[in-house]
Amino acid sequence: MEIIEEDDEEIRELMLKISRKEITICETCDSVFKYATNKKICDKCRKKKLRAYRKRPGERERLREYHQRPEVKEKARMRKQSPESKEQQRLYRQRPEIKIQRNKQYLRRKKLRENK
Ligand SMILES: [Zn+2]
Repeated sequence: MEIIEEDDEEIRELMLKISRKEITICETCDSVFKYATNKKICDKCRKKKLRAYRKRPGERERLREYHQRPEVKEKARMRKQSPESKEQQRLYRQRPEIKIQRNKQYLRRKKLRENK
């Protein structure tokens, strides 16, 4: 009896939080996540949904075609050349694991050149 009452209290607390727009219950898996406008499913379910969507027949071809359009290519090029993007690339290149990777690639190429 007591357990049920506790559950009721918990549910009431949840409902209150939902009405205060503090949290949302996921539409597909019933997990609870932080409230955000128009967000109805949790990140896990959203990723799962997106992955399933991308696996549909013809979706890969459609995406490839889309990215080959001249206006889309131009947009991507502009984005790549923006100061924000360049700053991000700079930060990425400075990461220690990336530096190690780059050094390994350099040594591998050097070895190949010397063996020619
Ligand atoms: Zn979910």
